[in-house]
Amino acid sequence: MMFTAHIGLGANLGDPVRTLGAAIQALRQLPDSQLTGLSHFYRSAPVGPAGQPDYVNAVARIETGMNAHALLAALQDIENLHGRTREVRWGARTLDLDLLLYANDEIRTSSLNVPHIELKNRNFVVIPLLDINPDLTLPDGTRLADLPAAHDINGLQQIATGIS
Ligand code: ATP
Ligand code: CA
Ligand code: CA
Repeated sequence: MMFTAHIGLGANLGDPVRTLGAAIQALRQLPDSQLTGLSHFYRSAPVGPAGQPDYVNAVARIETGMNAHALLAALQDIENLHGRTREVRWGARTLDLDLLLYANDEIRTSSLNVPHIELKNRNFVVIPLLDINPDLTLPDGTRLADLPAAHDINGLQQIATGIS
């Protein structure tokens, strides 16, 4: 069985666009998986501790045979390969990969929450998700396009990267 998963990518240290490009290459190499969608890239004002550089965010869609826990572990391996160091929560990082959605599943465990807990509240997640699928509906039935975050471009700026 193949399942659709949506992955949020973010970086705000070093060369974020380059890092996201490398992360997307790594997603293409995931076992038993195919990259089937990529949003625009966005520059966004950071959430959390003040004084951090802007983030660059994007969302990718894959079709995968991996289960959600295996996929999260694979995403963490990719983060580690790109020098992610764990410091302050929400602090600056070279690469952050969040499992936003997995099929139409709701998963609530200590190590994995899907849909991602903050998904609905973050314009830098909702808007790129809508790039990939303007009709996307969450497992609870919410149409993504109906969320306030879908219409809030505050702090968000689409950037041209040539990555597709
Ligand atoms: P946020 O989750 O608010 O975006 P963050 O990405 O900075 O914050 P991290 O430090 O990257 O948070 O992750 C903390 C923990 O969140 C991870 O160890 C992981 O087990 C857990 N986690 C739970 N659900 C998810 C998910 N859907 N995607 C990624 N990590 C998750
Ligand atoms: Ca995150
Ligand atoms: Ca994360």
